[in-house]
Formats: sequence, C-alpha cells, structure tokens
Amino acid sequence: MQCVTHPDRPAVGACVTCGHLVCTECKIEIDDKIYCKTCVSGRLSKKQSAQRLYRSVTDKKLAGVCGGLGDYFSVDSNIVRVIFIIFCIAPVPLVGLIAYIILAILLPMEDDV
Ligand SMILES: [Zn+2]
Ligand SMILES: [Zn+2]
Repeated sequence: MQCVTHPDRPAVGACVTCGHLVCTECKIEIDDKIYCKTCVSGRLSKKQSAQRLYRSVTDKKLAGVCGGLGDYFSVDSNIVRVIFIIFCIAPVPLVGLIAYIILAILLPMEDDV
C-alpha cells in the first residue's frame, strides 16, 4: 500500500473523504479523522469562495436558511433569525414565514454546492 502522491512512500492511512491512501507527509488529521492535502485545500478554497447562497448544514435551527444567509452576508446567523422573526410577526403577518419557506425550498444544501 503506497501513498497516491508519493509512490515511494508507504501509506499510513486513507483519506476519509476521497479514500486516497496517504503517507505521513500527505496525511492531515482533523478531529482524529485522516484527510489528504487535496481534500483539505479543497475545503479551504470552498470556504474562501463562499460567496454563494446556501442553506447551512452546520449552523441550522430549522432548514438552515438563516445560517446560510448569515454566512453569505457575513453577519451572525442569530441576527438573521431575529430579522426573520420580526418579519414573521410584523408588519404584514406571514411575509417572513413565506419568505423562509420559499428560501428553504429554493436554496440547495451546503454539501450540494
Ligand atoms: Zn482526500
Ligand atoms: Zn504522500
């Protein structure tokens, strides 16, 4: 079993994301899980180019809409929730609720982006 990037090195594990075998140099451990450099840098660049609207899977209370909007506008998702709640109760009832449901249906989940 050899590292996929370094055929001359023995693999010490497999990346949990792509399954590629990694050597000690390629291996990156996060939360006791093994990742390869490709997957980690892919994750980072995805975060950096995160100017896309999505429903957050990590920061969600209902469908993740507020977490996604908070990420998109770089504001605290709780602020977005408060704004939604205000819209839900005033001035026109249900406007915020309907908007939330529409966004929940339209926006893709973060992992699908
Ligand atoms: Zn990988
Ligand atoms: Zn390697």
